[in-house]
Amino acid sequence: MTDNAIDWLTEQIRERLSFYQSITGFGFARKVRTEEAPAAPSVVAVPRPDAPLPEKPVRDDTLEVIRADLGDCTRCVLHEKRTNLVFGVGNPNAELMFIGEGPGSEEDRQGIPFVGPAGQLLTKIINAIDLSRDDVYIANVVKCRPPGNRDPEPEEVAECRPFLDRQIDSIRPKVICALGRVAAQNLLKTEEGITRIRGRIYSYRGAKLVPTFHPAYLLRNAEKKRECWEDMKLIRRLLNEHSS
Ligand code: URA
Repeated sequence: MTDNAIDWLTEQIRERLSFYQSITGFGFARKVRTEEAPAAPSVVAVPRPDAPLPEKPVRDDTLEVIRADLGDCTRCVLHEKRTNLVFGVGNPNAELMFIGEGPGSEEDRQGIPFVGPAGQLLTKIINAIDLSRDDVYIANVVKCRPPGNRDPEPEEVAECRPFLDRQIDSIRPKVICALGRVAAQNLLKTEEGITRIRGRIYSYRGAKLVPTFHPAYLLRNAEKKRECWEDMKLIRRLLNEHSS
C-alpha cells in the first residue's frame, strides 16, 4: 500500500472514530474535522422534475405569524389524541434545518421536537458538525403525534404541509436535512426507500436537501451511523461552501 493510501485510510478511520465517539459518548477523544472534509465523489445534484416549484416566499411571514395561523389546530384527526402541538424549535435564521416525521411521546408531552431518545442522538449528531441545537431549526412533517408512532397518513401530512413550507420560506435555510424515510419521501414526493434516497443532494424551496437516516433508526441499526456521518460531512461542506 502506498503512503498516500495509508494516509487516506488513517484519516477515514480517525474521522469515523471521532463521529462514533461524539454520538455515543464512548471511544476516543473528540476531534471533529470539518474544514477539510473531502469532496464526496458519489454525490450528485439531482434535479427532480416532479418536485413542486417553490411558491413566491412571503417575506414578512414570521414564525410567530405562522404559529398564530395554526392556532389550536383541528385540521386533521391527529389533534384528537395530542397533548401538545409540536410546532418547531430553534434559530429563526438557521442555515440548517432538520425535518423529522412527527412527534413521539416525549415530544407530545413537552411540545418540543426531538427531545426523546432519538432527539438526544440528534443533538449529538448536530454537535458532531460543530453546531448546537440553538444554531439550527428543527421541525417535523406533522405537528401532532400519530398514535402509537404510526406513519402519518397522506391527508395528515397534507394539512400540515403549508405550515411547514411557510416555516421553511420564513427561515430560508441553506440546507435541509430530511431525517428518515417518512420525511424524505414526503418532501421529495417519492416512494423510494431512504437507503436509495440518501447520498445525494436534492433541492427543496430554494434549499439544498440532504436526506439521511432517522436517529431512531440509528439507535436500532448502529452500523448505519457510518453513512449518516457521510451525510453530515456533506452538510458541513455545503454550509462551509455557502459561507466562504
Ligand atoms: N421523531 C421524529 O421524527 N420527530 C420528533 O420530533 C421526535 C422523534
